[in-house]
Amino acid sequence: MDRRKFFKASLAGGAALATGAASCPAQARDNKSLPPEALGLLFDSTLCVGCKACVAACKEANGMPPEFSTQDQYWDTPLDISGKTLNVIKAYKHGTLEKKDGEENGFAFIKKSCMHCVDPSCVSACPVQAMKKDPKTGIVSYDKDACIGCRYCVAACPFGVPRFTYDSPTPRISKCQLCVHRHKDGKYAACAEVCPTGATLYGTVADINKEIARRKALKPGEKTQFPRGRLGGPDQSYPGVAAKYLDHTYGEKEFGGTQMLLLSGVSFQKLGYPDLPPRSDAALSETLQHTLYGGLIAPIAVLGALTFVAKRNVKPEDEEGGHHG
Ligand code: SF4
Ligand code: SF4
Ligand code: SF4
Repeated sequence: MDRRKFFKASLAGGAALATGAASCPAQARDNKSLPPEALGLLFDSTLCVGCKACVAACKEANGMPPEFSTQDQYWDTPLDISGKTLNVIKAYKHGTLEKKDGEENGFAFIKKSCMHCVDPSCVSACPVQAMKKDPKTGIVSYDKDACIGCRYCVAACPFGVPRFTYDSPTPRISKCQLCVHRHKDGKYAACAEVCPTGATLYGTVADINKEIARRKALKPGEKTQFPRGRLGGPDQSYPGVAAKYLDHTYGEKEFGGTQMLLLSGVSFQKLGYPDLPPRSDAALSETLQHTLYGGLIAPIAVLGALTFVAKRNVKPEDEEGGHHG
């Protein structure tokens, strides 16, 4: 069975059930706030040249095996994130491909990895607190020993990020943890460390927001210095020319905000990022849970009803479908 659809159907059923069950509407809690020392990434699509050095560095830093999408199996060519790939660069293409960062007859590159949400629905959905958000840095990581394999986080993430290693004898959840394991050696995110153009940059979210404001204040074509590696680290900047940015910074507001922030000249929907409301799912779903328990509905009865609704909502053709991230 396509597990993602099953869980989504369960959530849809749960929402319908709660609507009927709750005698009075619940007040949704506010989105959680950004931790004061939050760390994150800036991905500037206008600077990305699609070299995929960040994809290779991520694999090396996290001990991930190659993944092939061509028959000769010569190159490590993952097309999407998976249990073996935590970070990919995808391409947007239109028409004659003449214009970098152009929506019409142009092309652009986009990074896909965990967004490190400010109020993460994966953390909220995890029943055993295997998925955690660090209160200081805001990095969303997981404890593989605590994980029971329920995959609620897979269904809850609006970006399709957590993946399950189905083909492993010891299956587990897999996702970017902002290279937190490298911090003890004074290192930072491998994808940002190797990026030759600074398209992927590491830093505090406060510094990243300052850099975003600086770039957006530049006129297209204006000369500037672009930092590389880590904001606040050794100066590795180089001279470049500002592109035409959209006003929209993706992740500033979406789903309560994210600690990976995206700049682009091409609309984020065209780059594959979903159009999301500012309210985090966690704020809504936790209110839903509290409403159910507050109404003294026995959890087992709720589970039975959810299973019934989910089975009804999953069509026969959904059975054994692939993962759609
Ligand atoms: S290393 Fe930098 S320029 Fe190369 S694909 Fe990754 S983000 Fe883009
Ligand atoms: S992008 Fe998905 S996996 Fe990452 S923190 Fe947000 S909800 Fe969790
Ligand atoms: S921060 Fe580390 S784990 Fe996350 S995408 Fe970059 S290299 Fe991969």
